[in-house]
Amino acid sequence: MADSFDCDLLIVGGGPTGVTLGLLAAQNGLKVIICEKEADIYPLPRAAHVDHEVMRIFQSVGAAEAIMATSRHTAYNDFLTADRQILLRFEGSNRIGAVGWPAANMIHQPSVERALRDRLAEYPGVDLRSGWQFEGFTEDSSCITADFAINGDVRSLRSKWLVGADGARSPVREGAGIIFDDLNFDEPWLVVDTIVHDYSRLPQVNLQVCDPERPTTCVLMGNGRHRWEFMVKPGETAADVLDDQFVEELLEPWNVAGAITIERKVVYRFNAKVAQAWRKGRVLLAGDAAHQTPPFAGQGMCAGIRDAANLAWKLGRIVRGQATPDILDTYQTEREPHVRATIGMAMMMGQTVHHRSGSSSRTRPRDARSARRRSVTRRRRHLASHNQRNDFLRIARGWRIFPSISERRGSKA
Ligand SMILES: Cc1cc2nc3c(=O)[nH]c(=O)nc-3n(C[C@H](O)[C@H](O)[C@H](O)COP(=O)(O)OP(=O)(O)OC[C@H]3O[C@@H](n4cnc5c(N)ncnc54)[C@H](O)[C@@H]3O)c2cc1C
Repeated sequence: MADSFDCDLLIVGGGPTGVTLGLLAAQNGLKVIICEKEADIYPLPRAAHVDHEVMRIFQSVGAAEAIMATSRHTAYNDFLTADRQILLRFEGSNRIGAVGWPAANMIHQPSVERALRDRLAEYPGVDLRSGWQFEGFTEDSSCITADFAINGDVRSLRSKWLVGADGARSPVREGAGIIFDDLNFDEPWLVVDTIVHDYSRLPQVNLQVCDPERPTTCVLMGNGRHRWEFMVKPGETAADVLDDQFVEELLEPWNVAGAITIERKVVYRFNAKVAQAWRKGRVLLAGDAAHQTPPFAGQGMCAGIRDAANLAWKLGRIVRGQATPDILDTYQTEREPHVRATIGMAMMMGQTVHHRSGSSSRTRPRDARSARRRSVTRRRRHLASHNQRNDFLRIARGWRIFPSISERRGSKA
């Protein structure tokens, strides 16, 4: 029968974007099926930070308390010189933000995903099917039919709408024939995640060490973890930097032997990409399927959660007959400028950390400040040309990168 649907909304991908969207869509009265190829959540850490607005969205699905219970807070985000002098200090990360949660929350992504999935039990309208691997879809004027491989079998589901929240490699994006704008950021970084035994021997604030010899990030995480990220230098291979002895030498100056155990070490390529189209007919993209950002601003997953919040109420109105599908055209126009501005900020922060001019640590502060000024000017020009400068300044003020005029006046008084 042409009008027999398995669900209103079919979501491919049970990561943080897909599950948050599922919860919000169910709140909006939709019948939702989430299909996830893996048996369980990805168990190793990725995101380390979420901002206060994202905490507000988590609150709206009832997951905020559980997430806060495993989060930590940092008073500062410090950019340091190679000899560990403070170059830039961004304050206020632990202050309660405008929407009632601390501005920056250092998290453990698997714990966040567990808290979100635990909420599914409270929403009978959403059904998570693990072990369902998306294979492809067909679309007609009223319906999407998607095929899934399950234990050697193939099953089809019919839905009014399909959202690909299936991560950076997104088979849904590929099936829809949507390509990325590549913003030309592609850097390999060694990520070392550790389990903490003695917090007193670890930095209590987030650090970006602008060491021309080895740009390094060191950040708090939730649920008993702490992370280091080391830039992989030209000429080094993944095998070189993943060597146990090599990692031990990188950590040696931090004097943390005995205070931590390494949980995993991995080389990630940090990219900056935005899908050219976020909607094609009855198919939409959300989260990493739609955009990828280098993690220097801690905003990749946050962007996916914002996508979910933008989409859920619009799909709810359409399915209830209170809006026409045209409303979905506002999804990309509303979300893309914010995503591009956030990626711009992350790239600017990355350029600040990894300014590798060969300058000595004595001259480094002046070099780094002027590099940052040049980079900011370039970025301002770029964003102004895309009518995004205001968005960028708003975000940057949240991070205390560019204080507002009144804040500057206040600090002089
Ligand atoms: C080192 C690092 C640090 C980071 N730091 C931060 C940070 O501090 N803050 C922040 O906000 N973000 C950060 N991020 C980014 C964040 O981890 C991602 O943006 C986030 O995981 C994206 O969520 P998602 O749900 O869109 O995609 P994913 O988490 O990738 O989930 C996609 C899901 O789709 C499933 N899937 C894929 N293909 C199929 C298929 N064919 N069928 C069914 N299911 C499928 C996958 O199994 C997966 O479960 C960081 C990332 C890295 C790597």
